[in-house]
Amino acid sequence: MNVLARIAGPHRTDAAPLIIRRVDAIPVALPLKAPMKMAAETITAAQNLVVRIEAADGTVGWGEAASAPTMTGDTQGGLVAAVRDHLAPLIVGQDARAWETLRKSLHRALAGNGGAHSAVEMALLDLVGRVTGQRLIDLIAKPRRKAVKPMWLLGNPTIEADVAEAHAKQKQGFDLFKLKIGVKPLAKEITIAHAVREALPDTPLCADANCGLTLAAAKTYVEKTRKARLMFVEQPLAHDDIEGLKKLAKSTKVPIGIDEGIHSLADIGVSARAGAGGVSLKLIKLGGISAAVEAGKICQRLGLSVNIAAKIAESSISSAAALHLACAVPKADWGVSLTHFYLAEDIVKRPLPLANGMVALPDGPGLGIDVDERAVERFRVR
Ligand SMILES: [Mg+2]
Repeated sequence: MNVLARIAGPHRTDAAPLIIRRVDAIPVALPLKAPMKMAAETITAAQNLVVRIEAADGTVGWGEAASAPTMTGDTQGGLVAAVRDHLAPLIVGQDARAWETLRKSLHRALAGNGGAHSAVEMALLDLVGRVTGQRLIDLIAKPRRKAVKPMWLLGNPTIEADVAEAHAKQKQGFDLFKLKIGVKPLAKEITIAHAVREALPDTPLCADANCGLTLAAAKTYVEKTRKARLMFVEQPLAHDDIEGLKKLAKSTKVPIGIDEGIHSLADIGVSARAGAGGVSLKLIKLGGISAAVEAGKICQRLGLSVNIAAKIAESSISSAAALHLACAVPKADWGVSLTHFYLAEDIVKRPLPLANGMVALPDGPGLGIDVDERAVERFRVR
């Protein structure tokens, strides 16, 4: 770490401005190792936006956002257009060191579009960190931890495949698993929960229905999987079914998590009042890492558990940002989903590694990863 650069920092008023000379919104399609089947979509390649911000001195910062038609409504074309046509023209020629002011003016200029805002803020912070020698986390919050325990998602067509994958991933060091439910017949999903519990007697397990269950099915699932000791069941009902959430939460001791239902800081309070036990925070839903850090504080005040997640699947660019966030929030007791593990190929030179069951916060400046520009070009959607 460059100590002098760290002291100079971004807040020194006499620091030379870091003028943004170019912003690129690059659509990429990143192939997954295996298709991921969820209640409303099956993903074989991640259709993401990569943002590249170049300063006048040639330094480059990177950001990323996954398209998420069934979650944020962001399509890949929409993400590209939001950055290229609306956000980029507002920041070219501006001083990236004023990223907080820029971030606020961008949100005033373009409502919604959480993924686009998140990718731009990420790239600005990466750029500023690289120039000042600071890690991204040091620009946004006081670090609270140095590493996180990632979870592995299980969503195979058969029970046997889920059990085999759970064993294999546990050998690699994963020690927290999430079952993707709301896809198969309910009885089969209940059987899978018990089979995976039997295979991994002491490992924390949870389930995520991605809005795929009715209230009656959700009640049956939580009741009949009690012996599988699920840590929580995420988004069993439709994203806006607050009345259903109230009824379900009242009927069970199993904590109910909310993911698709969180699109703003205000939604966190709504979910808590309806009986949710915790929430999943994603950068694309909240519009960037500053808002997500704030969300983490709100969850702490409301006594909610927190899962930090990237969307299926984001490269090590977004995974690094999620990692900085997970190390910055008061708690991430419901685990961290870093989804670059699901990609057949990453777009950074050294994908974030799993070591002893943990992923460590990189100590390099900015996001702490090195983007492989040739890989970005190889996966660019033309
Ligand atoms: Mg989820």
